[in-house]
Amino acid sequence: MSQPDQMLESAGSVPVVTRSDVVVVGGGPAGFAAAVAARREGCSVTLIERYPYLGGLASGGMVLVLDDMNNGQEVTVTGICMEMIERMAKVGACIYPPVEDRRQGWDTYRKWAHWGLFDFRTASKPASIVMAAAFDPDGWKRLSNEIIAESGVDVRLHSWFSKAIVRDGAEVAPDFSVANKPLTEAKPLPFRPMLIFCGAFVILSTTTVA
Ligand SMILES: Cc1cc2nc3c(=O)[nH]c(=O)nc-3n(C[C@H](O)[C@H](O)[C@H](O)COP(=O)(O)OP(=O)(O)OC[C@H]3O[C@@H](n4cnc5c(N)ncnc54)[C@H](O)[C@@H]3O)c2cc1C
Repeated sequence: MSQPDQMLESAGSVPVVTRSDVVVVGGGPAGFAAAVAARREGCSVTLIERYPYLGGLASGGMVLVLDDMNNGQEVTVTGICMEMIERMAKVGACIYPPVEDRRQGWDTYRKWAHWGLFDFRTASKPASIVMAAAFDPDGWKRLSNEIIAESGVDVRLHSWFSKAIVRDGAEVAPDFSVANKPLTEAKPLPFRPMLIFCGAFVILSTTTVA
């Protein structure tokens, strides 16, 4: 018997569990900041993350150093990223050089270079110490949780964004953002039981970000 090249996936219905002005897909540094910023602007926000923690590669990928946040004259990365750094530093999960140490000199190099907090672009010795931060990945997870909870973002971990469904054309109807890990991963398996047991859901959104 010949095997088909294409298989028809059956349509199904899933419950609508929430509605938001903004749906952010991905709880890495970018998605986290986007979600918090949108919430602070007064939008209702749902943040969808496939893994059981926030921070993306920065936490789960053990990045450890937020390097070189300068342009030579001034600190260029501020805002929510700096807020995270300061919050982590307060609980001992992050370290960064004070303004007076951000310069070229063997004294500051000896103090900060082993943390990776020097200017990676320079070949001169000693390399200048710059605004950069060494952080504990689990500290990132913890502080992300705190900030996101304070801001009132609706966070859905273990949730896979599988597709956006548009009704009646994108111009006139809201997006349907389907966040549904089992739906995507379970393609060879029966559709309905996976939805029931694994908690598939639909989120209605007027804007889909990232
Ligand atoms: C090996 C390595 C080393 C690095 N070292 C450094 C460093 O030393 N210093 C530095 O500043 N930067 C470093 N970076 C870069 C840094 O990790 C990234 O710039 C940063 O993590 C990007 O943030 P992001 O939010 O854009 O993406 P990510 O951190 O990748 O986050 C994306 C998030 O989206 C989620 N996601 C993706 N698809 C879906 C979906 N369909 N449904 C639900 N969730 C989804 C992911 O699970 C993840 O949490 C490094 C990167 C790598 C790979």
